[in-house]
Amino acid sequence: TAAHITAMAASKPLNAYITETPEQAVDAATASDARRAKGEAGKLEGIPLAIKDLFCTKGVLTTAASHILDGFTPHYESTVTAKLWDAGAVMLGKVNLDEFAMGSSNETSFYGNVVNPWRRDGDDSALVPGGSSGGSASAVASFSAMGATGTDTGGSIRQPAAFTGIVGMKPTYGRCSRWGVVAFASSLDQPGPMARTVRDTAIMLESMAGFDAKDSTSVNMPVPNFEGALTGDIKGLRIGIPKEYRIDGLSDEIDALWQQGIDWLKEAGAEIVEISLPHTKYALPAYYIIAPAEASSNLARYDGVRFGLRVEGKDLNDMYASTRAEGFGAEVKRRLLIGTYALSAGYYDAYYLKAQKVRARIAEDFKQAYLNVDAILTPTAPSAAFGFGEKGDDPLEMYLNDVFTVPASLAGLPGISVPAGLSKEGLPLGLQLLGKPFDEETVFRVGGVLE
Ligand code: GLN
Repeated sequence: TAAHITAMAASKPLNAYITETPEQAVDAATASDARRAKGEAGKLEGIPLAIKDLFCTKGVLTTAASHILDGFTPHYESTVTAKLWDAGAVMLGKVNLDEFAMGSSNETSFYGNVVNPWRRDGDDSALVPGGSSGGSASAVASFSAMGATGTDTGGSIRQPAAFTGIVGMKPTYGRCSRWGVVAFASSLDQPGPMARTVRDTAIMLESMAGFDAKDSTSVNMPVPNFEGALTGDIKGLRIGIPKEYRIDGLSDEIDALWQQGIDWLKEAGAEIVEISLPHTKYALPAYYIIAPAEASSNLARYDGVRFGLRVEGKDLNDMYASTRAEGFGAEVKRRLLIGTYALSAGYYDAYYLKAQKVRARIAEDFKQAYLNVDAILTPTAPSAAFGFGEKGDDPLEMYLNDVFTVPASLAGLPGISVPAGLSKEGLPLGLQLLGKPFDEETVFRVGGVLE
């Protein structure tokens, strides 16, 4: 913990942390030492972690990287973080993210951009860490945390993991409780671990997962020994390669990375099978209706009364409007406008209902494919990390970054991003493995071979 507190201070220019809690970390580490001395060490005893600032932490500022949550200090602890502390983990602080987890580059935070610790060969300009869990990714990649929590709604664990050369695991929807996690899109949001190795994410997930009566979508299933799944043996496993992911304009280097992954899995004894997920191209448009629609409902609670910021107005309605106008950033406002529009009478059938039908088709595509394969291999993102502002003025181009991660989110499937190579410019690239519902074990097993 002491070494990580030093590293956290040294990596300040990355802007990964919104709130640092070194004193509490030292106290927690001291308590950890005492438990260890008594032979009562938990699974994560003394492991220093960064917590995405979307998880409510008792007595510690929780911002969702939004101005509207100014000064919000929860009096309760999210289920996932409570489980981590029960296992002995130590919190180093709360890490930065895109505002309300809306973004793919960590450029929408009220607390400023997070910087990727990686640079292009021979070019010192700063790059984005990906998003929305950009602070988590940057903290882990810069060794200023041993692991971090993330949340993934449409790729927010997997894509920043790929951009920073670490491992990020999005569990099956329902595996980890969402209770106490600031809601973005409730039917998609899922907490998960980010760390430097597949094994570390497996160990972390074991402590994060499990049934929680306080989350009605939490699934009551036993938590397997995920670490035990890392046998290194994938002989005879069938790995699907979806032909629809060979999108137009797929760059040569991403294509080559994918082929390299295929070769590695073949060498390790897996069987490679071409599969079809025919509705893939409709996933992004469906996601960018469903996620904003749910967000517009979830974010209705920020009214200047119950949480954080209040901007006075001449009457109640004016106070609501002024608070929301000042409290939300541009990307959040864009999502709220799209979401309320898609849900409004007269447009509901054309947009929201249609998007839900597409979502069902996408889930069915995966179900069919999994009759024939055990896991699916794809790239995590269509490019390596990019520079600040490169996609900033074109939201559509930004949304395209999620093309490989969003389909599995809509289907609720588990997925991992594993660092698998470097781009021509020397930046990390990730491969994504997707599994069957609640079969994180196969995802970890195959991921461990790719690493
Ligand atoms: N980039 C996607 C979005 O902006 C996904 C974000 C996430 O998974 N939280 O909605």
